[in-house]
Order: sequence, then structure tokens, then C-alpha cells
Amino acid sequence: MPELKMPANLPDPIINENAKIVLQRRYQRKDTEGVVYETVKEMFWRVASAIAQEEGKYKESSVKPAALAREFYDLMTSYRFLPNSPTLMNAGTDIGQLAACFVLPVADDIEGIFDAVKHAAMIHKSGGGTGFSFSRLRAKDSVVGSTGGVASGPLSFLRIFNCATEQIKQGGTRRGANMGILRVDHPDIMEFIKAKERDGELNNFNLSIGLTEQFMQAVNDRAEYDLVAPNTGKTVGTLNAREVFNILVQKAWESGDPGIVFLDRINRDNPTPSLGEIESTNPCGEQPLLPYEACNLGSINLGKCFAKGKNGKDSEIDWDELKRIIHLSVRFLDNVIDASVYPLDQITEMVGKNRKIGLGVMGWADLLYQLKVPYNSQTAVDLAERVMKYVQAEARSASKQLAKERGEFPTYAESTFGKANLGPYRNATTTTIAPTGTLSIIAGCSSGVEPLFALSFVRNVMDNDKLVETNPFFEAALKEADAYSGKLMEEIAKVGSIRKMDHLPEHLRHVFVTSMDIEPIWHLKMQAAFQKFTDNAVSKTVNLPNSATKEDIWDIYWKAYEYGCKGVTVYRDGSKTSQVLCTGDGD
Ligand code: ADP
Repeated sequence: MPELKMPANLPDPIINENAKIVLQRRYQRKDTEGVVYETVKEMFWRVASAIAQEEGKYKESSVKPAALAREFYDLMTSYRFLPNSPTLMNAGTDIGQLAACFVLPVADDIEGIFDAVKHAAMIHKSGGGTGFSFSRLRAKDSVVGSTGGVASGPLSFLRIFNCATEQIKQGGTRRGANMGILRVDHPDIMEFIKAKERDGELNNFNLSIGLTEQFMQAVNDRAEYDLVAPNTGKTVGTLNAREVFNILVQKAWESGDPGIVFLDRINRDNPTPSLGEIESTNPCGEQPLLPYEACNLGSINLGKCFAKGKNGKDSEIDWDELKRIIHLSVRFLDNVIDASVYPLDQITEMVGKNRKIGLGVMGWADLLYQLKVPYNSQTAVDLAERVMKYVQAEARSASKQLAKERGEFPTYAESTFGKANLGPYRNATTTTIAPTGTLSIIAGCSSGVEPLFALSFVRNVMDNDKLVETNPFFEAALKEADAYSGKLMEEIAKVGSIRKMDHLPEHLRHVFVTSMDIEPIWHLKMQAAFQKFTDNAVSKTVNLPNSATKEDIWDIYWKAYEYGCKGVTVYRDGSKTSQVLCTGDGD
């Protein structure tokens, strides 16, 4: 479809310095020589136009594509909402693949394994990330029927996937991201838990152990549990659950890997169990999907939903504005499904059946700063529930509205929604909380539902660029308190936090907390609060100081289970040589 004509009065977007670098490197279109020929304004219009034009297909829609394109443009350029990176990169281009999240099956035969490698390569080329479960592969040293030889096991194949990813840089700069999952009852589980113990090993993979209710029960009971050969279904051994959990914790303490996902819990929330079991998530864990399923995500910047109270004093959330953004964003994301060209027929078919979208939030810490509520407080946790409950309810209401206009998702009748007579809905899932690694840079907001890593810090992006950032709400508050000075900012950039700066007013030190100031329990409580009202999952890293102990991590992994999270990832400061975020001078 040719692009809609750009309105003459379209305002230029305001772009922060860091966003300029990121957009130019990865998002604005380039010619064959690598020279950028698209302005940021043209980029946002390309996306707005391509997504709005899908509207034209629906006769029942009262919305006109040209007017909608303008609304989408304003929505994005005011940084109230941004779709996931592949949509920004590819909408309205020849690539046309717009989803960030994919899960591919890995079958227990050579053909199936290499099909998955090939399919992953195709997805990575378009900017998407892939998740795989390796649980169906027979264990190392089991017999291979056709040759009489022995199998090399999931780990050996995982290395091939990793190597293939290394060779395919996405769009020239974005390297592929993968999730690898192995069930805890797979015979090779111990090798898998230790797979990333050497720094740099399997660098293109996040690894998570798929934990079951049965296993967690066995940890609790200090009992043994069975290891089951996936190819025969036979029990081939037992392990002590607590010992396995201990080693898992040890490895996560050493390097952050592996994380954990609770498979039974994920499947309890599988809206379409008749289509199969969910065995993996996308790379950052927030999007559980069926084999061959894809999902596009988008995030609302909550920092923009702050309103000064009517008397100019009592701050609050602008609920009406939030509602408007949610409804427009759901329409956007549903259109993205139609606009997207998927790299495989199986994926097109699967996405067409469930029409999953993942609307989430970013800028949560920014909103709390504006409301003057400390992240590590029960008030913040309660507010998180209230906000996400609202987002989920309004997103579903928007999806219902779309179902009226365009029909329900094709598997609705057999879905858990259909069986409970809850719909009809246009989408099998509507909410997901993504990490918003790049989106938050573009929007200039705090990422996802994370606390700020530091109030002022140096950000390493895309391998070698270093960007200095100070949180604007912090800066404003310092100025308001007459405490701002260049010298102070330098001091803060070195350590990130103001917790120990006794000379600063107590009310600032109370509200402007960073991830390192926050007890791990608050990270988890916050994750659980958002999870309670999120259809899919919540991307969250429990950031820990270098001094955190193995017991701390044990406690976090266990509490994530108790609190109803779908998984959890920890990161102990300094436990990897290359960190995305760091304080100090960035070296
Ligand atoms: P963004 O901010 O770029 O839209 P997020 O950080 O929110 O992306 O990540 C969302 C999802 O996008 C990830 O879980 C993953 O599925 C995919 N993704 C992120 N980074 C990459 C990457 N480098 N390569 C491939 N996929 C990625």
C-alpha cells in the first residue's frame, strides 16, 4: 500500500540526544551505502501510516485511516505509547515483519532441529527474538534408532543455535536474542544449569529452567524427584530437588543465569489449551507463546499520565488520559497483526488464530517520582495493582469493542474465554510487560516497571556508544529544593544513588530511590503486583548489589513462586564482565 500523504501541518517530533543516536543507528531507513535517508518525522509517519491503513480493510470501522494515522503519529511522537522495535523498524517497508516475540518448536530429530535453526535465522534477520524449549530432545548418550549411535543431547544443539545467531546480525546492528528452556525433569538438567558458568558462553541466549509444581513441592519436602526421558516417557533416574535448586541458585548468583519459569502456572493461564501446551517464552521471558506463535508488543509511558491535582497540589494519575491511550494502543496493536508479514506460513496461521497482543507499560519509576511515592513502599505496590488492573480492564474492553467491529479471534469459542462466556474478544491476550530496553531510550523514560538503575549514569549502548543520562524528574526536584549544582551531579553520576548523601533533604532521599537502594523483596512485590493483572508475563530483573548472598537469591527464587510470579531473573552487580547499564565512567 502506498504511504498516506504526510499532512502539511504535521509537527516535527522532539527527540532527545540519546534517541537521536539510537534511531539513526537502527530505525531510520538507510540506502544500500548505509546512508540514512529518512528523517525521524518521516519514520514515525511511515509507521503511523502503515498501521492506520489496515483500518481500511474493516468495513464496520467508523475510523478513517488518514485521521487515525494522525492520531497514531501524535501518540508516538508525544512518547505516550511506542510499539516494539520491529514495528518501528519495518512497518511500511519491504521487510514488513513487525513482531518482537516468537517461539519455535525444536523436534527430536536432525531435520526438526535444523529447521528451527533456519527459522530462527529468518526471524532474527527481521529484528524478532526467538524462544525455544529443548525439552523434547533426547538426553545425551541415548540411543539414536536410525544409526545405532548415541545422541549428543540438548546442550550440543544449543551451541549450534548460539553460533548461528552470532553470524546473523539483525538489520546490520541488532544481534539476535534467544531464550532456551529446559524442563527440570529432563535427564540433562544439571549440564544445562551449568551451561553458562564460563563467562561469554552461549552469549546469545538467556537460559531458564522450566520448573513444575511437582518439583517445587519436592524442594519444599526435601524429596527426590524423577528424571524422565522425553523420547520414551520412562523414568531414568532421580535427583534431590533441594540439591538441584541449590545449584541453580549458586549459578544464578555467579552469573545471573539461569533464570526460572513456572511452567504449570504459565499453562494455567494459557487461553487456548486446545491448541497445545506452552513450553517456552520469548527471550526476555515476558511473553509465553505456543510453538510457532508470535506476538507484537507495545508500551504506554506512564510517566506521561501524571496530572497535577486541581488545586495545583495533590498529584494524581490522569485516568481519563490513560484510558484514551489504552484504547488507541489496542487498536494500533491489533492492526499491527494484520500489517505484519511473518517469515513462515505456520506462524501466519498461528498468529491468525489467537491474535495475541501485549500492551504494557514503561515509565513506572518516573510516574512514582512525580507522585512522590517511593518505589519501595506498600503505597507503590498498591498503586501498581490499581494501575495494571485498569490497564488490563480497559485493554480488554477495547479488544471487545474491536471484536464487535471486526469479529472475535478465530479460536475464541474453544478458548478459556469462550468456555467461560467472557467475551467475545478480538485478542486471546492483551497485556504483557516488556523490558522496553530501546523503547525507553527513545521515549526518554524509565524502563518497564523497573526502578531507576541510577539517578545519573553512563549508558553503554550498541556495543560502543556511551551516553550520559540524568533523570529529568530528579533534576527538577533538586532545582525545586534549591539543591542543584553541577558539582553535585558529578558526584551523583559516580555512585548513582543519593541514599548516603546526608546533606540532601530527607524527602528527596526517601522518594528518589534506585534499584540498588531497594531491598530485593520490593522488586518482587512490585513484579507480583503487576503480574496479578497481566495476561502474559512481566519482564523484571531483581537487581542485587555485589554483596548479595546465595541465601538472598534462594529467597528471591522461592518468594517469586510464593507470590505468584511466572518466573524471575536476578542480576548481581558486577557478576558479568559486560553490563548494559553501569555507574561511574562506563569502562
Ligand atoms: P524494544 O525496547 O527494543 O522494543 P524490549 O527490550 O522491550 O525491546 O524487548 C522486547 C522483546 O523484543 C524481547 O523479549 C525479545 O523478544 C525482543 N528483542 C529485544 N532485543 C532483541 C534483540 N537484540 N534481538 C532480537 N530480539 C530482541
